[in-house]
Amino acid sequence: MSDTAQTSIVVIEDEPEIRKFLKAILTSHDYNPTFAETAKEGIKLISAHPPEIIILDLGLPDMDGIDVIKNLREWSTVPIIVLSARGQEKDKVTALELGADDYLTKPFSSAELLARLKVALRHAQNHSQQSSVFEIGDIKVDLERRQVLMKGQEIHLTPTEYKLFTTLVKHAGKVVTHTQLLKEVWGKNSNENSHYLRIYTQHLRQKLGDNPMQPKYIFTEAGIGYRLKL
Ligand code: CA
Repeated sequence: MSDTAQTSIVVIEDEPEIRKFLKAILTSHDYNPTFAETAKEGIKLISAHPPEIIILDLGLPDMDGIDVIKNLREWSTVPIIVLSARGQEKDKVTALELGADDYLTKPFSSAELLARLKVALRHAQNHSQQSSVFEIGDIKVDLERRQVLMKGQEIHLTPTEYKLFTTLVKHAGKVVTHTQLLKEVWGKNSNENSHYLRIYTQHLRQKLGDNPMQPKYIFTEAGIGYRLKL
């Protein structure tokens, strides 16, 4: 990304006045915005051409903005700034806990907007250009379609196996600790389920045809967790 390149941004907002306001500010500040009026349209845009940042209104006609964040965070790390009405503090907290990067309370000023965008982009510099499709050796994972292919053949994973695998995929190349995996896959009270992690990893390796003694994909980091080889 050169200094002169425009920053691509997808705005999901159903209110025409706010879209107009955003368009005026963004286009005059080196942003290249694309607009969607519905959640469905926005998700489609983002998966087709992953932008560098997303502005998401929480109150959309076809889907709750919170559910849009959930969907996006299954396959994308593109920073999300949510737009929320005053008084919806609970929604903001939920949005942030689900992986939104920041929020703006309507009505907001152009200075506030530009400051939030700048900070979120700075934090995300190492995470841009994220795709919903991953290829690891003979395995292809399409997070948007929830599909895992081995040499073009679909591997059927249970929801738990899929969750476990995609958690590793999202952190491919990095070690993921037992605690992180348990929290991601089993959620709260996950420590009670710690023995399941070993069992499900075993199942997953079997389905991937991975030999734990000579792994190609899932490596055990003794006492720490697991690592999916890039
Ligand atoms: Ca709205």
